[in-house]
Amino acid sequence: MPSYRAPVKDTLFVLEAVAGLYNQSHVPGFESVSPDLVEAVLNEGGKFCGEVLAPLNLPGDRQGCTRHPDGSVTAPDGFRDAYKQFCDGGWGGLIADEHHGGQGLPYTIGAVLQEYIAASNMAFGMYPGLSEGAQAAIEVVGSPEQKAKWLPNMVQGRWTGTMNLTEPHCGTDLGLIRTRAEPNADGSYAITGTKIFISAGEHDLSENIIHLVLAKTPGAPDSVKGISLFIVPKYIVNDDGSLGARNAVTCGSIEHKMGIHANATCVMNYDGATGYMLGEEMKGLAAMFIMMNAARLGVGIQGLAQADAAYQNAVEYAKGRLQGRSLTGAKNPDGKADPIIVHPDVRRMLMDARAYTEGMRALVLWGAIRVDLSRKAPDAAEREMADDLISLLTPVIKGYGTDRGYEVATNCQQVLGGHGYIAEWGMDQFVRDARIAMIYEGTNGIQALDLVGRKLGSKGGRGTQAWLGLVAGDIAAASDERLAFIAQPLAKALGDVQAGVMWLLQNGMANPDNAGAGATAFMRMMGHVALGHMWLKMAGASLAALDAGTADPDFHNAKLTTARFFAARVLPETASLKGQLEAGADTVMALPAEMF
Ligand SMILES: Cc1cc2nc3c(=O)[nH]c(=O)nc-3n(C[C@H](O)[C@H](O)[C@H](O)COP(=O)(O)OP(=O)(O)OC[C@H]3O[C@@H](n4cnc5c(N)ncnc54)[C@H](O)[C@@H]3O)c2cc1C
Repeated sequence: MPSYRAPVKDTLFVLEAVAGLYNQSHVPGFESVSPDLVEAVLNEGGKFCGEVLAPLNLPGDRQGCTRHPDGSVTAPDGFRDAYKQFCDGGWGGLIADEHHGGQGLPYTIGAVLQEYIAASNMAFGMYPGLSEGAQAAIEVVGSPEQKAKWLPNMVQGRWTGTMNLTEPHCGTDLGLIRTRAEPNADGSYAITGTKIFISAGEHDLSENIIHLVLAKTPGAPDSVKGISLFIVPKYIVNDDGSLGARNAVTCGSIEHKMGIHANATCVMNYDGATGYMLGEEMKGLAAMFIMMNAARLGVGIQGLAQADAAYQNAVEYAKGRLQGRSLTGAKNPDGKADPIIVHPDVRRMLMDARAYTEGMRALVLWGAIRVDLSRKAPDAAEREMADDLISLLTPVIKGYGTDRGYEVATNCQQVLGGHGYIAEWGMDQFVRDARIAMIYEGTNGIQALDLVGRKLGSKGGRGTQAWLGLVAGDIAAASDERLAFIAQPLAKALGDVQAGVMWLLQNGMANPDNAGAGATAFMRMMGHVALGHMWLKMAGASLAALDAGTADPDFHNAKLTTARFFAARVLPETASLKGQLEAGADTVMALPAEMF
């Protein structure tokens, strides 16, 4: 059975040295955020994940969810109890507004917990995870009455939330939505239609399920411009807050799928169900994007989490499995063979996993601070800058983060050889679970298009210029020649990204297929540089800690060694990615569709 230990020490290092968590006391909500408080919260959260959620991960995958003839769905054994412990521990309300019963901690702390939860049990984490997205949408566009009615119970976890976009004929292209919303005399709407692939659409963990549903009102344009957003509860909520009649929304079936078996992926049938408009009519997609932006960061975190869980278990195995001898002489001379961790090809996979997970954790938390600043910094210019940066990096964190997370999980499975492929060791589950993160919340192809088609040029390219300038500035500031091992290759990789931006500007306009054909290569290139930037910061912080006589030199020396690996083995790939980008669309699009 695989195990999971929350990487609290690494997180604390990143929060302080890279994300600058303790330098934000000018921001409301950060005043009481001290190192002691954060360490206590992370230790407690990590313990819950390691001891309660991780042991349910593999059994939950094997048992899956069950749909009963009456349409009700039960989560696997143990999930209900674990969810109760989750709510009793206040984990669901950690970052929620204090007005609605939350603890008001920064989003950044929530992002850490999201990682630990997804690494220990991704399927479990999706029940409260989607609920947090739904709460965010209600918080931002809901009326005061709607917030008062729906949020407190959602924050407590007594009610969970879902997001309903996808329909059988309509996935990426939401303009095709057919679900209808007919006005009722009392101001509510009758919602009719079928939504598919709805995560946590029906289950037995919470007392009520609050569905956020995209639908079109009569006469609305038959495009994305005609979409509105509705709150559709499983049980109608009476004026006194008690639960009333069952609403006309049912789970028609649950999908049999590759991974996240313990999360119910439901077909939801709306048969004139009572719904309440959330936000303005025909502004539904903008409101839904509030959920989706937070959710995209959350999905990027899932990529990191599956990679880290797979890495931890691959390391454990590689230290114990005896096969062959080291190329440079026996390392375990008393045994008949050496542990496989001595083999460079195994090390290659483990070092890549380590360099990705630690670098990605830094990027996620550096980005999470930008989310906090964009929402709460007192100074408008600081809010704007943070928003520019996180908007630019969101598709990278989601797309690059989950592409690489899946790659790493697969490599870690490879470390176990055949034992990684059979179910007994549980490595296959990390790979299967990691796979969906590349697909939902907008496929990674769509993330790459969002990056090159919208984000790079957004607001006249302001965010792009700010980020490029930030990385260049940190390279220039890294004057200590002991950092040249990463500063120089990072400067070269940054040059590749800058050239890529220029190439896209010149050639993407002339032929949009050029941008479409190169988007994924560009996103990977930018992801490498974003992680390289984080490794530069971490290497600088570790050097400083060593110079200051840190009590933990092993930790900081390992950081520097991993930074060297990233600089030497990952960053050079930007040159070939630039070549792919600049090859343009010709060879990609030349073959007529009928020849396939
Ligand atoms: C397990 C699971 C859970 C999910 N949970 C939810 C949920 O909770 N709520 C919800 O609403 N949905 C959910 N989804 C749906 C998910 O978000 C969609 O599957 C996803 O957005 C892609 O849509 P699609 O499957 O229809 O693929 P399509 O849109 O048909 O895309 C197929 C392929 O074409 C590509 N493509 C499509 N359009 C373009 C384009 N314009 N340019 C370039 N490439 C393009 C895509 O990248 C993809 O590779 C879930 C799906 C799964 C499998």
